[in-house]
Amino acid sequence: MKLCRADKVLIAGGAAVLGSSALLTATPLAVTAAAFLMVLTDGIFRPSSSVLYPTISHGPRDRPRVALTFDDGPDPQVTPSILQALAGAGARATFFTIGRHLEKHREIARRALREGHEIGNHSWMHSYFQNFYRTNRQRSDLDRSTRLIQELSGSDTEPLYRSPVGLKSPALARVAHARQLKVVAWSLHSHDTFTHDAGATAALVLSRIAPGDIVLMHDGHERDDQHRGTAAAALPAILSGLRERGLSSVTVSELLRP
Ligand SMILES: [Zn+2]
Repeated sequence: MKLCRADKVLIAGGAAVLGSSALLTATPLAVTAAAFLMVLTDGIFRPSSSVLYPTISHGPRDRPRVALTFDDGPDPQVTPSILQALAGAGARATFFTIGRHLEKHREIARRALREGHEIGNHSWMHSYFQNFYRTNRQRSDLDRSTRLIQELSGSDTEPLYRSPVGLKSPALARVAHARQLKVVAWSLHSHDTFTHDAGATAALVLSRIAPGDIVLMHDGHERDDQHRGTAAAALPAILSGLRERGLSSVTVSELLRP
């Protein structure tokens, strides 16, 4: 089997560290090890990093289109109002759903699909420990969500994947590599998880938005008893701001289509 990028990084880093310790090269061991650690840290923690696996964070910058994305739903208290606002504006979006929420709220996903939106895979568990999962566990978590999304969409296309909190691990990279997954991060974070101020969220997005951006927002919460409504409240202003700027909102797959 061809090695995935994460394994090449680990092997190359390990070899560089071993090499500088064995050969007593001009580069002191500590410097080599620190450099390797920095590269690895970037690969794990920076959502748009492609160190461990090629990661999409935006689309073409030369077309007047953006992709709004909503994570952690579906949430029956929030997602329907987002769908209503999108329909009113003739806009499409992508929902990176948590599998265990999707299982409970299938009818919301069916409606989203009927209305032209895209459902992406945001893991089944969305566990705080997801990035420590070994390869087999990553695979079964990811597969479980993929199967449900495919059942709902009636398509055997592999859904786009966004990892919880945008973290990546060598184990995830191996699973993604084997499936040739499209892993999607974002180029613009709406900061809707840090505030309940919908006006501030809309203002932040509209002050920074540029053609090709993939915007991160939330329609759900990883905890069943919590809800995130800031993006839903900000959405009407964001959609009218996009219209004023001549930007159309499409799904991530549409944004990436040549
Ligand atoms: Zn999430």
